[in-house]
Amino acid sequence: MDTNQTIKVHVLHCGQVKVDIGTPFRQKTLNSLAFAGIMRSEKHQVVLPVSAYLIEHPKGLILVDAGWHTDVRNGKQAFIKKNGRLIYKASKPILPEGQAINEQLDSLGFCPEDIDYVIITHLDIDHASGLDLVKNAKNILVNDEEWKAANKPGFRYNSIWWKDVNVSTFHFQPSAIGPQDLAYDLFGDGTVLLVSTIGHSKGLTSVLVQHNEQSVLLCSDVAYAQKSWEEMILPGMTVNKREARASLEWVKQMSKNPKCKVFANHDPDVKPQTIEL
Ligand SMILES: [Zn+2]
Repeated sequence: MDTNQTIKVHVLHCGQVKVDIGTPFRQKTLNSLAFAGIMRSEKHQVVLPVSAYLIEHPKGLILVDAGWHTDVRNGKQAFIKKNGRLIYKASKPILPEGQAINEQLDSLGFCPEDIDYVIITHLDIDHASGLDLVKNAKNILVNDEEWKAANKPGFRYNSIWWKDVNVSTFHFQPSAIGPQDLAYDLFGDGTVLLVSTIGHSKGLTSVLVQHNEQSVLLCSDVAYAQKSWEEMILPGMTVNKREARASLEWVKQMSKNPKCKVFANHDPDVKPQTIEL
């Protein structure tokens, strides 16, 4: 791609999520369900931002993750009725007016119809329930393994979040990049790579944007903060601990490049900002 053209990455905060401290930072505890807030008191709860990212790329407009649905504003009982009590226990939504993904797009001068690709890093509620608000985007992409896992019955996911959404799946391809040497090159030019960083979930996808010798790595929930890779602290929830550790190790290596900015989705130290590459 032409070096005169630039890519803009907007870091947006779509409200916050209240979780047990064991969710972002795995703890050695007797209670193996502590990360889900089960049998743990209020004093262990922390509030973290919920990020989404808008990428203005010369080849198209890309949204990474969709945050909370606006219906979380209808109160606790309505939330539990739609999503279940266990999900409420594990992650409580906070979504002030103006911060839902469609509202944020609007204030940047865009509408969902303008988006060429919505990439969902994984299908947990705080990343995927807002999909319904951007369902008029041209393409909505989720990794095929993630899609399969999330549509099986279980307590983690609820297919109601994408009931009326036309989701397409993509398959990771052999690549020189990533902990699994697997990635999907969105435009075929290396500028936007959807990298397999599995472990927290079956198909967890990080987005690596590269241009003009600079890069931005959106590492989703591989890590919850900078200290996650500095101190190698896994998230509380993993479907495969060994793979989660390999993914975190890769993010740590990437963070050592001074020209690579790494963003964890729920890092309390990251503020909304725009990066130009
Ligand atoms: Zn998350």
